[in-house]
Amino acid sequence: MIVVLLGPPGAGKGTQANILCKSKELFHFSTGDILRDEIKKKSEIGQKIESIINAGKLVGDEIIIKIVEKILSEELSRNKGILFDGFPRNVDQARGFEELLKKKKQKIDCVIHILIDEEEIIKRIQKRQSEENRDDDNVDVLKSRLDVYLKETTPLIDLYKKNNILKTLDGMQAIESVSNDMSKSIDEI
Ligand code: AMP
Repeated sequence: MIVVLLGPPGAGKGTQANILCKSKELFHFSTGDILRDEIKKKSEIGQKIESIINAGKLVGDEIIIKIVEKILSEELSRNKGILFDGFPRNVDQARGFEELLKKKKQKIDCVIHILIDEEEIIKRIQKRQSEENRDDDNVDVLKSRLDVYLKETTPLIDLYKKNNILKTLDGMQAIESVSNDMSKSIDEI
């Protein structure tokens, strides 16, 4: 099973992915977590991408697609499915993803779009900054991340709506209610 989580920064994708992956035995694939790990390790990729992430911009598609290809090969057979949190982030990544899945005789089963308003996003990111100390969680970088989300990522909403695989959920609800809605969406697949 292939599930994609779509939503702006602060929508709760990571939190919800953690809950859902445990209950549905899915592999949680967060491109953001993998990239942050590369930075921590000071790997070659990590050094290339640090300033991009800290500026709130998107890392190049080539790097991302390579990471996704590796994870698909390793984790598809080991798990009931994979939940993608933070990928794809633009139309080119969505196309690349489709090609990779086709090679593996797979397709996206469901795209869960978490809807949340901007005021709430700012509140949540400020809270997360005090808890996790992420370099890209401050109001200036958030503006850039939101801008990137609107320009690059929101076109995917229409794309997946046309493919009839999009489910939009109210991300303003309590964490547990959002999880319940997500769980139902996955059960309907
Ligand atoms: P996230 O943890 O999903 O909020 O991602 C944090 C940052 O990692 C983003 O602001 C981007 O700089 C980078 N990133 C994560 N996923 C992707 C992706 N699919 N494509 C490009 N950049 C990404």
